Amino acid sequence: MADERKYEWGEGVYTLLSWFKQDRVKNAHVLVAGAGALGNEVVKNLALFGVGHITVVDFDRIEVSNLTRSVLFREQDAFSHAYKAQVVAERAMEINPQIRVDAIVGNLFSEVGFGIYRRADVVIGCLDSRLARYQLNRLCMRAGKTWVDGSIENLTGVVRVYAPGVNCYECGLSREEFNHIMLRTGCADVVRTQSSAGRVATTPVSASIIGAMQVQEALKVIHQESGEPTPFKSLTGKMLRYEGMNCTTKVYNFASWKSNCPAHRRWEPVRECPRLKASLTVTRALDVLRQELGVKAVEINMCNNKFIDFIACDNPEREFRVMIPESRLDHHISSDRELRQLSYRTLFHKHFYENLDYDFPYGDLTLQQVGIPPLDVLQVTTDRGQFFVELTGDLT
Ligand SMILES: [Zn+2]
Repeated sequence: MADERKYEWGEGVYTLLSWFKQDRVKNAHVLVAGAGALGNEVVKNLALFGVGHITVVDFDRIEVSNLTRSVLFREQDAFSHAYKAQVVAERAMEINPQIRVDAIVGNLFSEVGFGIYRRADVVIGCLDSRLARYQLNRLCMRAGKTWVDGSIENLTGVVRVYAPGVNCYECGLSREEFNHIMLRTGCADVVRTQSSAGRVATTPVSASIIGAMQVQEALKVIHQESGEPTPFKSLTGKMLRYEGMNCTTKVYNFASWKSNCPAHRRWEPVRECPRLKASLTVTRALDVLRQELGVKAVEINMCNNKFIDFIACDNPEREFRVMIPESRLDHHISSDRELRQLSYRTLFHKHFYENLDYDFPYGDLTLQQVGIPPLDVLQVTTDRGQFFVELTGDLT
C-alpha cells in the first residue's frame, strides 16, 4: 500500500505506458483558457495525468445552470457566485495534491500576462465565442505556441489544433465570421456593452468527449516538444468532428495559413527584465526601460488594453470620470446604477490612452492600474527601434 506521504502520482500506472514520459508531464505547464463545461473536463484530466503546472483563466462566476455539466462545481459554489477559475483550481488540487493550479480571474486577452503564454508548453482553448478564439489565436501565434481548440453544441463537438506555421484560426475565418468579430472589437471610441453571448445547449457527455480529446492532443504536444520521435499522429492542421446523435467521428484536413495574415507576427526576441513588474508606476517603468534599453525616448504601446480616464455621452451631455482599463469598463458601467440606466438609451464615447510616455498625465498610476497585467510583455517603441520587454520581476 502506498504510504500516505511518499508516493508519486501515476507510479505503477502511467509507467506502464511505453510512450508516457512522466517527467515531461510533471514538468509541463498548460494554460487553460475558459473554466466552463469544457474547462472543467480539461483541467480534471490534466490533473489526473499529473500535469505539474496548470493555469486556468476565466472571468465568470458560477451559476446554477453550470452545474449540469461541470464536474468540479458544487451547488454551494453557485449559491455563493464563486469564480469559476478559482473553484476549478481548488478542486483540481484536491484531485491531485501534487500539482500546482493557478487561477486567473480575468480576460484571457487583456488580463493574462504574455509571459504566461510564453512559458506554457501548450494552450487549451475552452471558449464559447469567436472573439475569444480570435484573441487566443493572436496571443498563441505571438508566443509561438500550439493551441488546442474545443467547441461543443448539443451532442456534437469539434477539436482543432492550431500551430504556428501550419494552421491559424484567423486564416480559417470566413469574411462573414471575421466581420462579426470586428463588430465586437471595432469602433474603438464607442462603448458597446457586451451583448449576451448566444448561449448554446451543451451536454455533459459532449463536454467529456471533446475535453478528453483536447487533453489527449495537448499531451501529444507536450511529448513532441521533447524532440524525440513519438508514436502519435496529432490533429495539428486537422479538424475532428464528433457527432453523437448518429455516433460518427470524422477527421477533416482543415489547415489554413495565409502569407499576409497579421496574426502571424511573432513577438521576439523578448528581453526578460527582472527590474520591471506590474506594481511599478508608469513613470518609474519608463525610467527603467530607458536605462535597460539605453535609449532616450521611450513609449509603451498597449496592444491588448487601453486606459480610459473618462467616458462621455451626448444626450444628456455629460462626462464621467472612470480611470480604469478598457477591459473593466463593461463591468464598471453595469455595476454603476446611473451609468447602467444611461447605457440603455445612449452611447458612451471613451477618452482613452493606448500609448504611455512621459506625457501620459497619470504617471503615478501603476502599470497594473492602467491595464497591464503581471508578467506581461511590453511592446516598447524607442529612438532605437521596437523592443519586447517582459515584466520578469513579477515571477518572484
Ligand atoms: Zn493567420
